[in-house]
Amino acid sequence: MEELDYAGVLAAGFGVASWKQLRTAGMTRTDLRHVLASGALRCIRRGWYATALANTDVVAAVAGGGVLSCLSALRLHKVWVPGASTPVHIRARASAHRGVHRAFCEQYGRPESEITSVDELTVALRHALRCLDPEGIVVVCDSILNQGLLELSDLVTVFRPAPARIRALLDKCDGTAQSGTESMTRFRLRARGVELRSQVDIAGVGIVDFVIGTSLIVEVDGYETHSSKEQFEKDRERDRKAVELGYIVIRLTYHQVVHEWESAESSILDVIRRRGHLKPLVDRKELVSDDT
Ligand SMILES: [Zn+2]
Repeated sequence: MEELDYAGVLAAGFGVASWKQLRTAGMTRTDLRHVLASGALRCIRRGWYATALANTDVVAAVAGGGVLSCLSALRLHKVWVPGASTPVHIRARASAHRGVHRAFCEQYGRPESEITSVDELTVALRHALRCLDPEGIVVVCDSILNQGLLELSDLVTVFRPAPARIRALLDKCDGTAQSGTESMTRFRLRARGVELRSQVDIAGVGIVDFVIGTSLIVEVDGYETHSSKEQFEKDRERDRKAVELGYIVIRLTYHQVVHEWESAESSILDVIRRRGHLKPLVDRKELVSDDT
């Protein structure tokens, strides 16, 4: 029974836990000696233990003098985080900073004590507010809201110690965004003064990511990997129906949003400059009577 308790603590810490946690879960000094002798656990820092299959980022954070936090912890909590997954983001108690040359993540307000090997979502997010640019903060918060991991009122609490310019970003968040690339597209186009509506339901087409003006649809692929053949066919069918109704459709891949944004943006701005986004739409009744 007790063993299950340590297993739970270790699983929650992605394979890493402190002696304090293990002891609270019922482990005795004798138990610890046994699991260390059997190789089931190893000591990675004074008072911290890891299983053989522990998450390597978590082990690196704890062995490196802190706990996994910020962007790295957000990724483990399944939040969509922009950019590369390295370097590992670690935070540490103030005493661990002395004489150490590596960069630890910090938060607005007083430092937290170390409780678990991986920071919980709210603590990780508070640290991420200092490691991300404004767009990254909005992207991460959109993902948290969209997945229902936290409510907007929770975000308000997390943001409270941050400066006003960071708190103001909460007004730019939108939990309807289905992917990080969709959040990036919205954030960047709004920054260029483009007014757009998100997740618009168009009769005969379905829900599209964005509508600009009356007649410009922008759809964004959320994933780096190619969608299934079935999804590919479905998307083209939707595009064709939208064009029949008089819409212009711009479909952006993940790669175009993340790596070739300038060119993607200039296509959209060109359509707007030519007033293509204000074209009158075809009356759907006319379409139906043409068919019959
Ligand atoms: Zn960080």
